[in-house]
Amino acid sequence: MRRKFIIKQIKQQFECQRCNRCCEQPGFVYLTPIDLERLAAFYGLEVSSFKDEFCRKEENEWVLDQPEDEPCRFLTEKGCEIHEAKPQQCSEFPMEWRDSGAFQYCEGIKKIASRCSKEGKG
Ligand code: SF4
Ligand code: SF4
Repeated sequence: MRRKFIIKQIKQQFECQRCNRCCEQPGFVYLTPIDLERLAAFYGLEVSSFKDEFCRKEENEWVLDQPEDEPCRFLTEKGCEIHEAKPQQCSEFPMEWRDSGAFQYCEGIKKIASRCSKEGKG
C-alpha cells in the first residue's frame, strides 16, 4: 500500500537528483527505432553505422552493446554523455517504469519516500 502511494508521487513529482545510480545498474538499455535515429543524428552518423558501432541485437531487439553487468557505456564523470538524445527507456525512468531495487538506489525516489514518511502519508 505504501509503495503504491509512493509510485503515485513518483509519477507526479519526481525530481532527478543526478546521482547516476540508475546508469550503473546491470541490465539492457533497449533502443526504439526513434532512439536509433535520434542517437545516430547526435553522433552525425547513419543509423546503420550507429548500430554497427554502438548496438547489438538481444532477442530481436536493439540494445546498447555493452557488458550487461557494467555501468552504461555513456556514463561519464559528468553524467550521461548523450543526455539530450538519451533513449526513451532512460527518459521514462523512474516515472513510467522502475526495478524493485530503485527504491534503494535512486536518490530521487528515496527523497520522495522520506518526505511521505515525515508527512505520515502512504
Ligand atoms: S544512456 Fe545515459 S541515461 Fe541512459 S543509462 Fe546510459 S548514461 Fe544513463
Ligand atoms: S537513480 Fe534516480 S536520482 Fe539518480 S540519476 Fe537515476 S533517476 Fe536520477
